[in-house]
Amino acid sequence: MASIGEFERACENGASVQEELLAGILRKNASTDYLQKFGSPQTPAAYKSQVPIVSYEDVAGEIERIASGDESPVLCQDPIICFFASSGTSSGKHKIIPVTAENMSATTRAIELSSAYKARCFPELGSGRVLGLYYCIDQFHTKAGILVGAGTTYTIKNYRNFSSKFTTPYEMIVSGSNWRELTYCHLLCGLIQRDAVEHIESMFAYTICESLRILESDWEEICNDIRTGSLISGKVTHAKLQEAFARLILDYNELDRVRNAEAITKICSRKSWSGILSLLFPRAKLVSTVVTGGMAHFVPQLRDYAGVKLPISGKDYYSSEGVLGINTNPASPLEEVVFTILPHIMYHEFLPLGANNPAGEILAPHEVVVGQEYEIVITNFAGLYRYRVGDVVKVSSFFHGVPQLAFSHRKNAVLSVQNEMVDEQELQNVVMEVSKEAGIEVANFTAYGNSTAVPAHYVIFWELKRREGINRELLERCCSSIDRSFNPGYTGKRLDEVIDSLELVIVKEGTFERLMEEAVRNGTSPAQYKTPRCVTSPRMLEVLESGRVQSYKSGEMPRSVLESWEPSFPQGSASRDA
Ligand code: AMP
Repeated sequence: MASIGEFERACENGASVQEELLAGILRKNASTDYLQKFGSPQTPAAYKSQVPIVSYEDVAGEIERIASGDESPVLCQDPIICFFASSGTSSGKHKIIPVTAENMSATTRAIELSSAYKARCFPELGSGRVLGLYYCIDQFHTKAGILVGAGTTYTIKNYRNFSSKFTTPYEMIVSGSNWRELTYCHLLCGLIQRDAVEHIESMFAYTICESLRILESDWEEICNDIRTGSLISGKVTHAKLQEAFARLILDYNELDRVRNAEAITKICSRKSWSGILSLLFPRAKLVSTVVTGGMAHFVPQLRDYAGVKLPISGKDYYSSEGVLGINTNPASPLEEVVFTILPHIMYHEFLPLGANNPAGEILAPHEVVVGQEYEIVITNFAGLYRYRVGDVVKVSSFFHGVPQLAFSHRKNAVLSVQNEMVDEQELQNVVMEVSKEAGIEVANFTAYGNSTAVPAHYVIFWELKRREGINRELLERCCSSIDRSFNPGYTGKRLDEVIDSLELVIVKEGTFERLMEEAVRNGTSPAQYKTPRCVTSPRMLEVLESGRVQSYKSGEMPRSVLESWEPSFPQGSASRDA
């Protein structure tokens, strides 16, 4: 269903489309071990009363059986064509999610539908080139020979069309090189073809900001490589990247290359990099990337790089489990990006959050309430039944009868050292607010709840974009402001001294790059990487600690903070469950 009209008609009948979809899934999979265990229900009511709501850990055993070669219908009737490795963020642990041909084709249809909305909204996007900041990581096979890899890697390798407009040759993207060399090549190839670039794209906003940080340090080498038509910078060592570059450069004559390198040098030598993207890519008409959730932090940087003339569009809401929603209004302001669920792709249920749900009820899409937050529970064709994705969303409105969701936060990404709770969105809001107030550009941040210290306390890590004009006093003030901005659940415990002063640690430039490299080493695709906002893995903590340059402790917590507290962030979740 790639037609907008057909999709919107399906949305109007969202409730019945969902019921039919569920009936189809239950019929097809009635004889699987999993559904049989729960009496193979055939109606939505029986399904909801007999089959439990589960998390990954509850079905990990079944997934392991399939991975080890059990060919009986363990979870679903259709064969598993591969597993997607999801980028387990805060704990650094991965999940492997079963994929069937049917849910792969559902994903493809969702991507086509999303492209149709984008084409309608930005008709000026034509046949130009795309600077696509994508990466492939190594795939491997389970004991039984089933392929395991990141969803982006699978899509790039199996749908050649996906990358046909990219400025970076396909051979480079699939070369298996390290992400930094490939980022250099993405920039190099994009800049060689800068006059043809129409669209700049990445999965997550972080990738564009990180690539521009690399451009800030490497642009002189890139210009030399363009000028000479060779990789004399020595920055690219991987043989497959070198070969693909040698082929690409044959299409560009020396005069044009020299002219291009001079123009890029002039642009990159500017003191301010505001609007740099439209200067470097003068025909670019759109930047598209995920700007919601953990990526909201990068929006100011991205806007600054894009400048006023180049629009940015918020990308869809995907996970390894499937397409959770698409942006049907790609021109909406970035702070207002919401996702329309696709009633014909997977079955959705919505679990009200703990405190609001004493009776443990769970709602169908048409029953949810605008303004309320819910945890997403899905059922798909690939053997996930009433499965908690781990995300919390807020219903923002209805679109032809189906809910539109604003991403709120990852359920498990919370700081909690004494039974209080600060979720990733509250943390992000506080960091953004405090740094903005102080006029400090925080390139990236994360946090750690140190519950082994006595008393326990929070540690916030900041990597600064620029150090000029930032002194100890200002950072000390930021540290105390962060400490005083969290919800009363936290502040009360600080006043009772069961939580100690907050520590703000400034890390050296490049520390967050190393954090990403650590995740990539553990199998996360750079394309899908999201900086964990709350770190729990000891190894990641080690990386952060190794970058420590200065640290500050918050001052005493005045009682007045508790009395005057109010949730200052309308989109935030600061008041919840405090
Ligand atoms: P992965 O399983 O590695 O593909 O990661 C999927 C997770 O990334 C989702 O469950 C969300 O937590 C996050 N995510 C994906 N798309 C978006 C989006 N548009 N906005 C916010 N978070 C997103």
